[in-house]
Amino acid sequence: MVVGAGIVGLTAAVRLQQYGARVTVLTADPAPRLVSAVAAAVWYPTHTDADPRVLRWAAATLEEFSAQAAGGVPGVVLRRTRMLQRGPVAGLPWWAPAAGDVRALDASEPYTRELRFTVPLVEMVGYLDWLQQRIVAGGGRVVRRRVHSLDDLFAEAPVVVNATGLAAAALCGDRAMFPVRGHIVLVANPGLDESVRDEDDPAGITYVHPRSRDVVLGGTYEPGRADTLADPEARDGILRRCIALVPALAGAPILGERIGLRPARHGGPRVEAEAREGGLLVHAYGHGGAGMTLSWGCADEVCTLALTGRRKAPGQRADQK
Ligand SMILES: Cc1cc2nc3c(=O)[nH]c(=O)nc-3n(C[C@H](O)[C@H](O)[C@H](O)COP(=O)(O)OP(=O)(O)OC[C@H]3O[C@@H](n4cnc5c(N)ncnc54)[C@H](O)[C@@H]3O)c2cc1C
Repeated sequence: MVVGAGIVGLTAAVRLQQYGARVTVLTADPAPRLVSAVAAAVWYPTHTDADPRVLRWAAATLEEFSAQAAGGVPGVVLRRTRMLQRGPVAGLPWWAPAAGDVRALDASEPYTRELRFTVPLVEMVGYLDWLQQRIVAGGGRVVRRRVHSLDDLFAEAPVVVNATGLAAAALCGDRAMFPVRGHIVLVANPGLDESVRDEDDPAGITYVHPRSRDVVLGGTYEPGRADTLADPEARDGILRRCIALVPALAGAPILGERIGLRPARHGGPRVEAEAREGGLLVHAYGHGGAGMTLSWGCADEVCTLALTGRRKAPGQRADQK
């Protein structure tokens, strides 16, 4: 049983099914209300610390999405990206080996360097729907139901995957979890087909991601802020910065805006199994600003944990033998 129908839960459910498991996915919320539906969603390990596990998950995810883009999965494309950097830079970033071909070029003031690479972009609303359909077509179920105790679910299934995102803080008492509010603005696409990022803009993180019909303009990254109230000042700031970065956006009609809470976790995502009375609990949450970026790689790990029963004993870290 998988609790959570965001990008993390659904990709895990698909993989478990591929390995022969009978899967039921429970979700408290409809897909359009999830932070997974707000995500831009471009492969990039935003605010994620360098970590060999993360690098492995990111590389596996990029490979899977690239295959899906080549196979014509709706809403999955490869996007050429220009990433402008400020301040001192040395060598390629830690995530470059997972991204494949990352080239560094000189850049003019106020930038110090430009990185060029090509990575997957996923139109999440349709993609979440596609994943759900895949699960149902494979004999699984996706059920709207709020869970109050993960342990109670062992009466229904021997393995429970906890992919509840931010809600894991309360469901399993994880005090390392915290929300990071993010805000994006959607405008009509004036014909752009290249992503541009200026992560270090002193006025705020700035990115432009063209999709099939619109362009995602971002953004904000506000650790600890847990409300999703409208913020016209932040919206205007996003528009101002993105138009300065990509002047072709000036005058593009505004189609809407989205605000979501990234499920961040001190120490990085928790992907580990725990023996509980009654069954095996596999945790997969805390992906912060990189849930799409790490999704398929984490799903592989969830599968290994769920199907081999590899778990930590009480008081032992999952990576300890
Ligand atoms: C503005 C913005 C831009 C972003 N851009 C990107 C990007 O470009 N690339 C990227 O990789 N990431 C991006 N992200 C981050 C990404 O959205 C998240 O990392 C990802 O969606 C987390 O997915 P999840 O499945 O863990 O959580 P969620 O999508 O929150 O799903 C959690 C699931 O658990 C269910 N649940 C919770 N509690 C219960 C309960 N008690 N009972 C039953 N079900 C429950 C929910 O109903 C839901 O189905 C962005 C986020 C924001 C806000």
